Amino acid sequence: MKATSKASKSASRIDLHMHSTASDGRLSPTAVVQRAADQGVRLMALTDHDTLEGLPEAQAAAAQCGIDCIPGIELSARWARGVVHIVGLDIDITTPILLEGVARQQTERRQRAVRIAERLTRAGISDITERLERLAQGVPGRAHFARALVEQGAVPTVQAAFERYLKRGRPGYAAVEWARIEEVVAWIHAAGGIAVFAHPLRYGLSRGALRAAIQAFVDAGGQSIEVANGGGGRDDQVAAAALARRFGLTGSKGSDFHDPDFPWIEIGRLAPLPPDIPAVWERFRETPAESVSG
Ligand code: AMP
Ligand code: MN
Ligand code: MN
Ligand code: MN
Repeated sequence: MKATSKASKSASRIDLHMHSTASDGRLSPTAVVQRAADQGVRLMALTDHDTLEGLPEAQAAAAQCGIDCIPGIELSARWARGVVHIVGLDIDITTPILLEGVARQQTERRQRAVRIAERLTRAGISDITERLERLAQGVPGRAHFARALVEQGAVPTVQAAFERYLKRGRPGYAAVEWARIEEVVAWIHAAGGIAVFAHPLRYGLSRGALRAAIQAFVDAGGQSIEVANGGGGRDDQVAAAALARRFGLTGSKGSDFHDPDFPWIEIGRLAPLPPDIPAVWERFRETPAESVSG
């Protein structure tokens, strides 16, 4: 392993946020890595929700494909006024503090899944537990319930499942006691990683509330923010870049790819960072230089 040289890195070949069947993605870790390689990505991170389970397989696949896979995770976090997602990048996945934290989050997810299933059953949805067990191979999430609701015929699309049943205030919503933002950032730091404030424009927060959430993240020692994201448009990127500058954060890029049936969010299809924003990947401990050149 050689230290990376800044000049060698090509931002268009980088995607640091995606999901596999270890959480709510539709492709196995191997298939995600192969898809990233096919899309021309040379530096990727698999960032499943609250689990490290897919990482060994992803790393083995990346070695096969000749691309770099940085160990990552997307942790759900609680702050004063809601839930945000914090991506941890370049983490040591053997760190006990991180492993304990992740185990705690998974317990919360499993307990919430039982509560969601109870609520959906009460709302007249049949066979939800059986469907969930089949559809959630890794840690369960609301996306699995959304797919179960589509399969059952209760709603036409995953989006509609969130709108009608799963989002806050709907019959299948169950609250979760996620770890606090400071705890989540501390786990990532204990694992030698970098904490990234994920998809800032996707929480539906007012400008003031979003700034308060990022301030809480910065106060906890968070270092980076996703500037380029799969879902958002140009306006979101401009706003996220402004937040990076305002809070002095490095910029990350991540598609948040989940599902090949949603081709509008494809791996690696991300705009470059504005040149004045330092790239988070320049802060990784080490990356083989040849893998990100050109
Ligand atoms: P969870 O962390 O289990 O509460 O679920 C959050 C995940 O659900 C996100 O990472 C997305 O994959 C998915 N999700 C949330 N809202 C929506 C939505 N409106 N449409 C489609 N997927 C969604
Ligand atoms: Mn997800
Ligand atoms: Mn997220
Ligand atoms: Mn994600």
